[in-house]
Amino acid sequence: MATRSTIMDSNSFRAEHAKGLDQETRKLTQRREELLGGSYRLFYRKPVHLVRGEGQYLWDAAGKKYLDMYNNVASIGHAHPAVVAAVLEQMQALNTHTRYLHERILDYTDAFGTTLPGYLDPGDYKAMYMCTGSEANDLALRIAKTSSGGTGLIATTEAYHGNSELSSSVSPALGSGQPIGENVWLLPAPDSYRTGVADIGPWFAQQLREAIADMESQGVKLAGFIADSIFSSDGVLPGSYLSEAVEVVHQAGGVFIADEVQPGFARTGENFWGFAAHGVAPDIITTGKPMGNGIPVSGLFARAEVLASFSDSIPYFNTFGGNPVSMAAAQAVLDVIRSEGLQEHARTVGAKTLEAFRQVGANHESVGDVRGAGLFIGFELVKDRATREPHRELALEMLEELRGRGVLTSVAGPHGNVLKLRPPLPFSEQDIPWAADALDDSLSALE
Ligand code: PMP
Repeated sequence: MATRSTIMDSNSFRAEHAKGLDQETRKLTQRREELLGGSYRLFYRKPVHLVRGEGQYLWDAAGKKYLDMYNNVASIGHAHPAVVAAVLEQMQALNTHTRYLHERILDYTDAFGTTLPGYLDPGDYKAMYMCTGSEANDLALRIAKTSSGGTGLIATTEAYHGNSELSSSVSPALGSGQPIGENVWLLPAPDSYRTGVADIGPWFAQQLREAIADMESQGVKLAGFIADSIFSSDGVLPGSYLSEAVEVVHQAGGVFIADEVQPGFARTGENFWGFAAHGVAPDIITTGKPMGNGIPVSGLFARAEVLASFSDSIPYFNTFGGNPVSMAAAQAVLDVIRSEGLQEHARTVGAKTLEAFRQVGANHESVGDVRGAGLFIGFELVKDRATREPHRELALEMLEELRGRGVLTSVAGPHGNVLKLRPPLPFSEQDIPWAADALDDSLSALE
């Protein structure tokens, strides 16, 4: 089992850096420390104070422009006018909850059905709405337990699925201070580069078989396997390798939960949903972040028969979930992805970006691997290309160097050595040189 690391803390501001800050930044960081709970973390030694965003760009209080290479919430672009208009219009008319009739939630669910891959029948799924990815996964895990009659859960060793009691219990990315659930089994991620296994599908399916056998030997029945199909927190692992693993889960009577909070909504280019790259049929799909482009809205789409045992016995009400304003924002996001051709854009621009980043990697010994799908790229840093020893310190220094060059991003992976490059989808071909040169120059400055 891999060492539990603390990616979420790894590039955080620390009070000892406060000395080097300008007066304004120091004032804000001090006010935060006085007013906010200590669990909050800031990015960067010199925190960034953002005041405006548009498309793939951000501006700080001093007017400096940044290229956002990290935000998949503002997925169709910061401050997208279509979302602003939809929210404003609905807010001016009505905002209530799901105990009254309203068309928006139904129209959105119909539209959602059209995003599923052709091999799935939207009629097989039923929708529920909430406000965050954590709530969606929390409910998905509860449903998995009810429908399977089991309690055992499987996740990967650097997964992140949320901040509730249950979803954090399958989120080892929170670090060693976060207790992992009693009936949770953690598996190493299907990482071809780190394991050196080319055909990672059967390898990963075997990990699942062994975990399920171990579970059963301890008298625990499988409830489900939850995975982000591009394994974002585990280091960004694109590919098509999960089908055998999902079969193993089903054979053991478990539920497969596809956490689409990161790969969903057209980001991976070839597919609208991350799980579709694997050709698998999730029992439950959970969504969040990009769904409302910044308006808090998330969803859960479950096979009707999986949902039934839960729905029959337990009511669900989420005060803000599925309200007309959230649904208006979510509808605008789907409409814009279509009208602006953002899935195809992610595919073509993503391929060119990957190629450009690979060229940068070819010139620097400390770049071990560059991989991606659409506009979701992992840039892995190593001490030695032959041994593939992870270079976490370099990755953390890279974040600071990139920030200096106006490029904002962060790290992922169990060793914190993978730069996670995941810009808003309007990221264009014209932005590639800015990002690629920043990577190139930052590496040159640090090597
Ligand atoms: N699942 C994944 C894969 C995520 O990346 C996140 C957020 N980082 C969540 C779930 C939780 O979403 P939220 O912060 O909206 O609760």
